[in-house]
Amino acid sequence: MRPPFPQRLARLRALLQASGLDACVTLHRPNILYLCGFSGSSAALLIEPRGARLFTDNRYAIQAADEVHGASVGIVQGSLLVAMGNRLQQAGIRLRRVGYEASQLSVQQFKQLRKATGERVRWQPAHSLVEGLRAVKDHGEIGLMKAAAALGSRAFEQVLPLIKPGIREFELAAEIEYRMRRMGAIGPAFETIVAFGERCALPHARPSGRRLRKNELVVLDLGAILQHYCCDLTRTVYVGRAPARIRGWYQAVLEAQSAARHTLRAGVTGSQVDEAARNVLRKHRLGRFFTHSTGHGLGLEVHEDPRLAAGQTQKLQTSNVVTLEPGVYVEGVGGIRIEDDAVVTPGEAQILTTAQRGLLEL
Ligand code: ZN
Ligand code: ZN
Repeated sequence: MRPPFPQRLARLRALLQASGLDACVTLHRPNILYLCGFSGSSAALLIEPRGARLFTDNRYAIQAADEVHGASVGIVQGSLLVAMGNRLQQAGIRLRRVGYEASQLSVQQFKQLRKATGERVRWQPAHSLVEGLRAVKDHGEIGLMKAAAALGSRAFEQVLPLIKPGIREFELAAEIEYRMRRMGAIGPAFETIVAFGERCALPHARPSGRRLRKNELVVLDLGAILQHYCCDLTRTVYVGRAPARIRGWYQAVLEAQSAARHTLRAGVTGSQVDEAARNVLRKHRLGRFFTHSTGHGLGLEVHEDPRLAAGQTQKLQTSNVVTLEPGVYVEGVGGIRIEDDAVVTPGEAQILTTAQRGLLEL
C-alpha cells in the first residue's frame, strides 16, 4: 500500500500556515522521501500552498515518474536550486515568506537560492517541521519497522555460532552486514559496531583487526535498512563463563533498560525516561559509567526525533519509535550495552526487536 503522501503534505501545509510561512523548501533526502516518495540522491522539494514540485535531474526521470506522488516533477538541467529559485521568483507576490531547513542547507546552497529568487522572497528558518511529522509513525511505517527489527534480530542470531576465539572484529561485522543484505536489507543503517574485550568500553568502536579471545565480552551494535526504515539493535555476549562482576553489570544494565521501558509511554518526557535508566545505574554505583543518553528516535534515519536524554522536556507521543540503550563503559575492562527498539503507546511500550535479551555465555 502506498504511504499517504497527500495527507503528509497537507499536514505540513497546516504547520507552515501556523508558522506564518507561504511555502518551504527541503533538500533533506529523508524529508523528501517522506513527503512525496522520491528516493533518489539528488533532489529539491518545494511545498507550495496548493501543490508541491520536486526538482531533480535527468538521471532520475524514470524513477521520479514512478515514485513521486502528491507533487509535480521538474527535470532540471543544471542547478536544482537555481530552477527552484526561478520558480519562486515567478510566483512573485504570492509566495513571499518561504521556510528553509537551516540545519540541512549549506551556506553556499542558501546563498545560491537567495540569489536565484531575488529580493522579493523573505527566507525564514523553519525548525524541524517535517521531522516533527516524521516522529509520529503511521500504521504502515510501524509495520515496516517491525519487519526491519525482526531482520536485524535474525542477523544477530545467525552470527552467534561464529563468535568463537580467533575471529576478528571486522570479519564478524562483515558477516552481520552480509546476512542483513541477504535477507533483503538495502544496507546497514550505520557502520556495524563489533568490539571485543577492553574495546567494548568504546561506545562507538569501529571494527578492527583485533581477534577474539576466550573469556571476553563482545558488543554487537547493528542496524539494517529495510524498505527505507531502520532498526538499531545492540547485544552484549560473553565468550566463556562470565565472572560475577560482569554478571552484576549486565543485570544492572538490563534492569536500567527495563526501568526505561516501563517509564516510556505517551505523555512522559524524554528526560523522564532517561532519568529512569540512569537512576537504576546510580543505585548500582555505575552511574558515572553510563556516558551517553538512553535513546533516540528511529525511522527513515537512524537518529531522529525524539531524543531520550537529559533536558528533553517535550512530551512523547503515541507512535513515536525510539531506542532504549543504556550501557556501562569501564576503561581498560570493557563495556555492556543492551539496545531495543520500542513503539510508544498510551500504555506499555511495544518492543519491536526480538533477539534474546538475557546474558548469553557462548
Ligand atoms: Zn545501536
Ligand atoms: Zn541507537
